[in-house]
Amino acid sequence: MKRVLVFLLAAAPLWGAGLRAGVARKDITPRDPIWMSGYASRNHASVAVRQQLWARALAISDGAGAPTVIVATDVIGLPAEVAEQVAQRVRAKFGMDRARLVLNSSHTHTGPVIWPGLATMFTLPAGEEEKLRGYAERLTADLVAVVGEAIADLAPAQLSYGFGRAGFAMNRREATATGIKIGVSPTGPKDHEVPVIKVAAPDGRLRAVVMGYACHNTTLNGDFYEITGDYAGFAEGKIEAEHPGATALFLALCGGDQNPNPRGTIALAEQHGGELAGEAERVLGGSLKPLSGPLRSAYVSTTLAFAPQDPAVYEADLANPRAPVAAKRRARAMLDHPVRETAYPVQAIRFGKGLTLLALGGEVVVDFALRAKAEYQGEPLIVAAYSNSVMCYIPTERILREGGYEAVDNLVYYGQPGPFAAGVEARVFDAIRAAMKKVGRSR
Ligand SMILES: [Zn+2]
Repeated sequence: MKRVLVFLLAAAPLWGAGLRAGVARKDITPRDPIWMSGYASRNHASVAVRQQLWARALAISDGAGAPTVIVATDVIGLPAEVAEQVAQRVRAKFGMDRARLVLNSSHTHTGPVIWPGLATMFTLPAGEEEKLRGYAERLTADLVAVVGEAIADLAPAQLSYGFGRAGFAMNRREATATGIKIGVSPTGPKDHEVPVIKVAAPDGRLRAVVMGYACHNTTLNGDFYEITGDYAGFAEGKIEAEHPGATALFLALCGGDQNPNPRGTIALAEQHGGELAGEAERVLGGSLKPLSGPLRSAYVSTTLAFAPQDPAVYEADLANPRAPVAAKRRARAMLDHPVRETAYPVQAIRFGKGLTLLALGGEVVVDFALRAKAEYQGEPLIVAAYSNSVMCYIPTERILREGGYEAVDNLVYYGQPGPFAAGVEARVFDAIRAAMKKVGRSR
């Protein structure tokens, strides 16, 4: 009897000594027609629901202290106002400090505006803002609730991980005679890795799958007015349909400058979703590496400075009859309430000495993931973006110099003053190093 017990204890670390997991999902589909986000061309509310939107949560506990919860949400991105409200309520209700809560958004462009995120982008007819405020309130409550349901579901689990690849992400920063435009850049940097985390019950039953990909969730364009989760939603839905009772969580990685290719139709969104789900299934069926505790987490909030702007720039936008209405809205806002910097969150979650999830705020371009993975070798890294809050794009120095949408134009729609000051990449990496150090990782 004693010999058997010794054997079991020795074998336990193979399957994540003592890790427990809980899973929950909540339907966050807007109940009525609602203004959709992502494209400035939107000129009316949604007309139908093609696919439901979900908030999906995975709670993980190593038995010490509060659990860590990863929430994957089929929305464009959470403004800091929503993310912080969720985090405060989660802390009050479940005793989880900020570092233990990861809020990732899939960046679907066929979902609702998450007020006040990207509010500068739209000219809303009377009554629409009130609906958006109502949706943001409901989403806040749903995100807190789904965290609680995942915690209540905690039970012994086997966690393991592996990596695959999918090829539909294409660098979109196309060099043209008049500068960098959103198009296709087949030779531009990309990251086709598909990290997969498997969560199984002790009897082997699949309970959850976490999969990531570095690509904008924008197969569908601004002329499509039906609610969907785009390719990420179709990938999640396909895995859940094939494994009844299991929950699939998509993590948006550093795809700020990556688009699905080709794009433009619902059939292509399903095709890309099918490719991603198929690759996740292939990884699940292969040999995975076990994950174990202890779970370590860190949350670092830094600030990123924008380049100083002369108020005359905004006066000129207001005076220019040909300036886009969004530029005029940004100009008015900046003259009334000047902005000089933005808060920026960097988070790290480390499983034993096996795997680290680095979760970055904002629309992070792919170079950050490539650089972070090159700098932190030895233990694998998943570099997520669109995590916690999304305040604008996060460019590298190269992209800041080159210009284009990810460096300049997006800041109009995000209601930010203008491009970042030089040094933004170093500031982000300072915060990455601080977070990684807190979970015991050095370069
Ligand atoms: Zn985007």
